[in-house]
Amino acid sequence: MAEETIFSKIIRREIPADILYQDDLVTAFRDIHPRTPTHVLIIPNTLIPTLNDVKAADEMALGRMMTVAAKLAKEAGIDEDGYRVILNCNQHGGQEVFHIHMHLLGGQPLGPMLS
Ligand code: C5P
Repeated sequence: MAEETIFSKIIRREIPADILYQDDLVTAFRDIHPRTPTHVLIIPNTLIPTLNDVKAADEMALGRMMTVAAKLAKEAGIDEDGYRVILNCNQHGGQEVFHIHMHLLGGQPLGPMLS
């Protein structure tokens, strides 16, 4: 069994977070240290530590993360100018919280990806 992270507590609303969206599969909340004017994290409600751990049974939640990202981008008014979604995996990917999460970043030009 993977160890829970702070994100499980956010899903269960045991600690405060600015939750923008929640359903039976995913939760989305504002990143506590925003890197861009819009910086939202979209996570599955079940604990999947890294992208390496995803199973076929997770595909509904992973797909929902995509549709929620698009919905929240539209609500934030960044859909037409554009935005970036990132999912970091393990050390070289820069992953710090081991409950997979999609970063939705936008509200300013982001430039080339690895600059
Ligand atoms: O992809 P990575 O694991 O590096 O990102 C973790 C993200 O979770 C960071 O952007 C951090 O600011 C965010 N975070 C948060 N609320 C917490 C703990 C971490 O938004 N309570």
